[in-house]
Amino acid sequence: MHIELAKHAGYCFGVREAVKLALESAARHGAVHMLGDIVHNEVVVAQLAAAGVKVVRNLEEAPDAPVLFRAHGTPADVWEAAGARGLEILDGTCPLVSKIHAEVRELAREGRAIVIVGDHGHDEVVGIASQVEQPYVVSSPAEAEELPRLRRVGVVSQSTQLLENVAAILNVLCRKVVDLRFVNTICFPTRRNQEEIRELAERNDVVVIVGSFTSANTKRLTSIGATINTRTYQVATAADLQAEWFAGAQSVGVSAGASTPDELIGAVVERIRALAEA
Ligand code: SF4
Repeated sequence: MHIELAKHAGYCFGVREAVKLALESAARHGAVHMLGDIVHNEVVVAQLAAAGVKVVRNLEEAPDAPVLFRAHGTPADVWEAAGARGLEILDGTCPLVSKIHAEVRELAREGRAIVIVGDHGHDEVVGIASQVEQPYVVSSPAEAEELPRLRRVGVVSQSTQLLENVAAILNVLCRKVVDLRFVNTICFPTRRNQEEIRELAERNDVVVIVGSFTSANTKRLTSIGATINTRTYQVATAADLQAEWFAGAQSVGVSAGASTPDELIGAVVERIRALAEA
């Protein structure tokens, strides 16, 4: 059985840099406190904990020691509170998330009401929303239909949104808004990974996506794969693989979410190989 691994499966550069910063900071400072999980992957969080990176749920829980801000971005009021306490901040914010913050502030400066296409309550979306006054967060075309009539609107999206969902929401907004400006803030690693999974799902008999079920971008890759290839499965680790998924298959395509470490992907590929040879 042929196994095709997506070229860019796994960590995007933003996550890779944030994990590196966390490990280097823990080695330098002895221990580092991180505001929330650095990425949505339980294995990575456990590895970082073993290296001395402690997770705190909010700033009040953090002692007067260096605090690490994650790749997804951190709300403006938390930056202010950390500054007021004089905490040393180790900033792991992905530069592409910082760019979304700058874009949304610019749209607000133009006097536009702000619409953020994203998942309600997701850390990155909360961080983007904190940059402007009273934005609307919209996760689906149905929610876009519910928006009030607005004259001037600026739209950005969460970096990992599905292009088709953003396009469908814009379609609704085009009918409702006179002066609409959209800045495409889906990041290029996300666009590239979504494109790769489409090709992988077309070319292979079975598709396996590796990543945590708490990771929004992993779940989105799985849903793209499943719309093209009904034999698409998501696994958190190699232990989730089931032999019957591969019955009669000549080829398997493997990809992974942006928060999945290389060793988990490697273990899944090895297990698929072993199942094929059994
Ligand atoms: S998914 Fe995109 S925006 Fe988010 S951390 Fe990775 S590169 Fe940065």
